[in-house]
Amino acid sequence: MMMSWERQVSIKSKRELEIMRDAGKINAEALQAAADATKPGATTAEINAAAESVLKKHGVYSPFLNYPGAYPYPASTTISVNEELVHGIPGNRVLKEGDIVSVDCGAVYEGFVADSAISVPVGKVSEEAQRLLDVTEESLYVGIAQMIAGNRIGDVSSAIQNFVEGKGYYVTREYTGHGVGRQMHEGPQVPNYGIAGRGIVLRPGMTIALEPMVLIGTPATRVLRDQWTVISYDRSLTAHFEHTVAVSENGPLILTLLEDGGKPGRKK
Ligand code: MG
Ligand code: MG
Repeated sequence: MMMSWERQVSIKSKRELEIMRDAGKINAEALQAAADATKPGATTAEINAAAESVLKKHGVYSPFLNYPGAYPYPASTTISVNEELVHGIPGNRVLKEGDIVSVDCGAVYEGFVADSAISVPVGKVSEEAQRLLDVTEESLYVGIAQMIAGNRIGDVSSAIQNFVEGKGYYVTREYTGHGVGRQMHEGPQVPNYGIAGRGIVLRPGMTIALEPMVLIGTPATRVLRDQWTVISYDRSLTAHFEHTVAVSENGPLILTLLEDGGKPGRKK
């Protein structure tokens, strides 16, 4: 999503963090429904509908719908297949065995936003595709581990970059993680690359949507003619994982896990 970065960093109270955790559970449930609907022969519109039905069940809406851009974003989720990195628009594309699909979803609950994303395989995928999924997901947790009060944004960013590049892949320079709260996009901006020890200091009550976007062949991207879908410049495979995470006195708290604390996206 396009965004401006003069936005404020907000510190959430304990009560506000509880609301954001509730928003995060709904979002995780929506992602799980999307993952369960992801199979060969399904369309990306069907995956979007699966997530949307969970949001509707809880009486919440997605902050993605009508998000301002070249034209208002037309869906509740973004669904990005293979070389599509982020912001793919759900539609009549039919998934086939071997594809990988990134689903990004948001939920607004009692005025607070949860934002998270998963990438999932369609049926059996190549070893290369599975490795990309594994590395991208692990890089998210490597970054989260650095979200400790007193650390700086650069500690988080550089941990993700070093991990991903150490595996031989690339992080995008053009899209970043972000603060999240009453707005989907608040300060601070949290790139997936950076220098340890630089940037603002993390404080308890900060909530950040951390979202490694990883590419196999190049860090470069371009936007398709639909003005939303971002693809790898060389059309190599990409993946994207995201959690909304709070900085606390007791370490990072992942707000977008399932009700039972599990990670969304695992097949049951
Ligand atoms: Mg997102
Ligand atoms: Mg985000």
